[in-house]
Amino acid sequence: MSVATSYEFLDKVIHATPDGEEIRKCLQCGTCSGVCPYGFAMEYPPRSLIAALRADDFHGVLESDTIWLCVSCFACASVCPVKIPLTRGLLATLKTEMLVGGSIPQELQTALGNSRRYGNSLGESPRKRADWTKDFTVPVPVLAAHKKPVDVLWFVGDYGSYHPRVQQVTRALAKLLFVLDVKFGILGAEENSDGDTQAFTGEWGLFELLARKNTQAMLKYQFAEILTADPHAFNALKHEYPRLGLDRPVKHYAQFLTEHFERLRPLLQNRGPQRVTYHDPCYLGRANDNNLYEEPRQLLRAIPGLDLVEMSHNRALSICCGGGGGGMWLDGFSWEKAHARTTEWRVKEALAAGAQVLAVACPYETPRFEDAVKSTGNEGKLKVKDIVELLVEAVFG
Ligand code: SF4
Ligand code: SF4
Repeated sequence: MSVATSYEFLDKVIHATPDGEEIRKCLQCGTCSGVCPYGFAMEYPPRSLIAALRADDFHGVLESDTIWLCVSCFACASVCPVKIPLTRGLLATLKTEMLVGGSIPQELQTALGNSRRYGNSLGESPRKRADWTKDFTVPVPVLAAHKKPVDVLWFVGDYGSYHPRVQQVTRALAKLLFVLDVKFGILGAEENSDGDTQAFTGEWGLFELLARKNTQAMLKYQFAEILTADPHAFNALKHEYPRLGLDRPVKHYAQFLTEHFERLRPLLQNRGPQRVTYHDPCYLGRANDNNLYEEPRQLLRAIPGLDLVEMSHNRALSICCGGGGGGMWLDGFSWEKAHARTTEWRVKEALAAGAQVLAVACPYETPRFEDAVKSTGNEGKLKVKDIVELLVEAVFG
């Protein structure tokens, strides 16, 4: 049910997250709004939002739709001096209120409807989830047919399963698992969207539905740990699914491959591109203090001849690709409101760092950054590759 006053809304925020009570301690310093990649275009970036709530102007807040520019990047929460849980608490709770009130851009409504109806935001048939394994040189067991315990349950994710560009990354990771002799399996048609991005649009009910289906499907099988290439899936599986009964370790491939580093390193025989920079995904880094900053860099530095250079915003200061918090499904809305794309800023930063390749580690990023290379007129000057694609090139040539 929607709330009517600022005070009722603040109560909801306080109950939404541990440490929610900290919101009362806001210093109005504005650091959050300053670091926000879309703060310049939001009518109520975090500091102004809290000020409006203190002035009991919740009505004004609900009349503005620019909260949908928030890409749930955790930049504001990570710099707040009093550690207010802004992204998971204040902003996600406001988005829930907007959804309840029916104030939702059409693009987002479509993606959420697809997630509910098909179990994936792209609106693809669930039966086609494992189609990327067809006519593929590497055997990829689907657990329902495999009927044997595996060491690793690989949660492939929506974009890794369906998006043609990201399927290339998925196949590259399968090749690495094969060459490392990892006993793995996938859920195939039993997998649903991890629900993380839906949750950060405020749709926690949909998240619960998807997460319960995934948890039930996974717990039918015998496996020791969960692997994913998707930082959003990693975040949800690690921090939200345990309360639904999932009790296995969850690893992004950057962690998993560094754990297998002694076996991987001797296989990296072919020289890589000379100058590579790495974009830290929000959900491997800042979100929930996941802090996976060094593992991706360790993998890249292991590629012979590769010179890793840093962009001006790196690690905890990385700028979001704009795909989180539903941004992946709101590109038209964001352009209309902000007339700016964070991916284009990032491409310019990568080129300023002298990079020939922008390395990424999130399925949202390859297509988003490739589009930005084109829209900034830099085709031929910068390639976008997932880390696993660079590793496969180093192994197989
Ligand atoms: S950074 Fe924290 S303390 Fe400063 S204005 Fe934002 S929410 Fe308030
Ligand atoms: S989570 Fe990111 S996009 Fe959203 S308000 Fe905070 S800094 Fe801005």
